[in-house]
Amino acid sequence: MSILNKVLIVDDSQLIHSMYKLVLGRYNCRIVDVMNGLEAIDTLSRENDFDLILLDINMPVMNGLQFMEKIKKENLYRHIPIIVISTEGKEEDTLRALKLGAWGYVVKPFKPHMLYELIEKVVARKPPYLSTVKSI
Ligand SMILES: [Mg+2]
Repeated sequence: MSILNKVLIVDDSQLIHSMYKLVLGRYNCRIVDVMNGLEAIDTLSRENDFDLILLDINMPVMNGLQFMEKIKKENLYRHIPIIVISTEGKEEDTLRALKLGAWGYVVKPFKPHMLYELIEKVVARKPPYLSTVKSI
């Protein structure tokens, strides 16, 4: 298992937060969870030492794609790996997220082990990072 110290969860669903926390439970890492892109930017402006960001696309206030466009310009945290977890049937958004610099993606609904395997690959820097049965 790879070492993961600190993860930022960005999703407007508390249920999804809980699910990610279950997957992340085996890492014994610090987790900060927020509900949209704006809160995520706010968090990153205060602390940028995250090893990983788990990012939803559809969120109120600021969605995942808007968030990625913003942080792409920020030298302080554009290096942080981002895994996008998007809703089934939104392949266009997923493709756009990859173009904006997402390292990998998972399509909802997904099995926890799929997310775990993708996190392992990203943290260990072992591509390819695309963990899904769907093709885009
Ligand atoms: Mg959402």
